[in-house]
Amino acid sequence: MELLKERILRDGKVKEGGILKVDSFLNHQMDIGLLQEIGKEFRRLFPDESINKILTIEASGIGIAAITAQYFGNLPVVFAKKTKSKNLDGELYTAPVVSFTRGTQFDVQVAAKFLGPEDHVLVIDDFLARGQALKGLMQIVERSGAKLAGCGIVIEKGFQEGGRELRAAGVNLHSLAIIDSIEGGKIQFRQE
Ligand code: 5GP
Repeated sequence: MELLKERILRDGKVKEGGILKVDSFLNHQMDIGLLQEIGKEFRRLFPDESINKILTIEASGIGIAAITAQYFGNLPVVFAKKTKSKNLDGELYTAPVVSFTRGTQFDVQVAAKFLGPEDHVLVIDDFLARGQALKGLMQIVERSGAKLAGCGIVIEKGFQEGGRELRAAGVNLHSLAIIDSIEGGKIQFRQE
């Protein structure tokens, strides 16, 4: 997606440890016009009319998924929670995730009442690095008996293994921008 790539080149900042900061337009301050274009692109890439729910993970996935949902006929968005709160009651689906940015392990959880065998789910997230977050969400989809329609990622870091592994496993994965290298602070996109 050219508009996104241009924005990453203009406003993205390469940090230590293979981290790309996009907090001025994607995951702290959000550019809603850009998110709308992202939502339209996900709709084009996942035209399946039987998709009836979008699943993401807090916090950065929520804004992206909510705007994307508007291009899927205002589908409900469920976001997996990272902390167990008193508000999260009843039966839960839980999966472990190791955070790439924080280096810690935590459980992601979704209330069972919001996901079940009647659902055909599109999973959305901001970044794909080692694939931990997506694998956790996919485990939750599987446990719930729902069907996975695919995974939509805004920025995939193709120099980390997540995307390769998930595609090899047959996941219907689309990333709007794939970065193959950020060496020396220079961002290089995969040519499609
Ligand atoms: P994974 O689970 O695929 O290893 O990492 C994906 C998760 O880690 C995403 O949900 C995202 O929040 C975070 N993440 C991974 N790499 C980056 C990065 O380079 N920049 C930012 N801002 N977040 C990242």
